[in-house]
Amino acid sequence: MKLKTAATELMNLVAPVRCSGCHIVDLRLCHPCHTFLFSGASSRVSTMSIAGRSIPVYSAGEYSGVRRSCLLDFKNGSRRYLAKHLLGGAGAFTDSLRHPDSSVLTIVPTPSSLRGQWSRGFSPTGLLAKALHQELASTVVNRSLVRRGLAGVLRKPQHTPRPRAQRLARSDQDFRVREFAPRVPIVLVDDVAVTGGTLRAATVALIAAERCVLAVVVAAHVPGREFFSLNP
Ligand SMILES: [Zn+2]
Repeated sequence: MKLKTAATELMNLVAPVRCSGCHIVDLRLCHPCHTFLFSGASSRVSTMSIAGRSIPVYSAGEYSGVRRSCLLDFKNGSRRYLAKHLLGGAGAFTDSLRHPDSSVLTIVPTPSSLRGQWSRGFSPTGLLAKALHQELASTVVNRSLVRRGLAGVLRKPQHTPRPRAQRLARSDQDFRVREFAPRVPIVLVDDVAVTGGTLRAATVALIAAERCVLAVVVAAHVPGREFFSLNP
């Protein structure tokens, strides 16, 4: 153990490692930040009404402070191992995510934009779906929801945040559902719920393809928002 500590200290001198949550020079995720992520109060933060169905939206915590910092490092700093920490408190969802008629739950990640997939080389929501799968027994991950078109890849990168109206313009036509067994209960997974526009579009696309969306799980939600576009 002493050897490990000495090795860590030596490595920090050569190439300082900063905690994703609080940025102190220590481990990749310091103990207090690790504890914070796992002690987060996973809760139901909203409900979507689509085609007469009420679909609960569960969040592992607020998109602020340590959680926000870790999510940014996870997505933009390629710290892929953070997926399991970001959905670490998801065990609290277990009872809510069971379907009375089915023993197996299908976890579907919301697909990243094609540009995001190309530039990152990995899918953050895919890793979050995998982390949730490891957290919950009797689940499978299915990447049957995909983005349409190459427009997002060929378009010039945008360095300024898209206007609100443009974000809300996300449509279920942006998504395509690949073939897989219909009527299996699905949990849709996304990284952050900001306005709810993407979540709603993805859910509408799945329901239009006769899929049964049981719930939505996100690693974080922006506090103070009413998810106005979940129920336009
Ligand atoms: Zn920390």
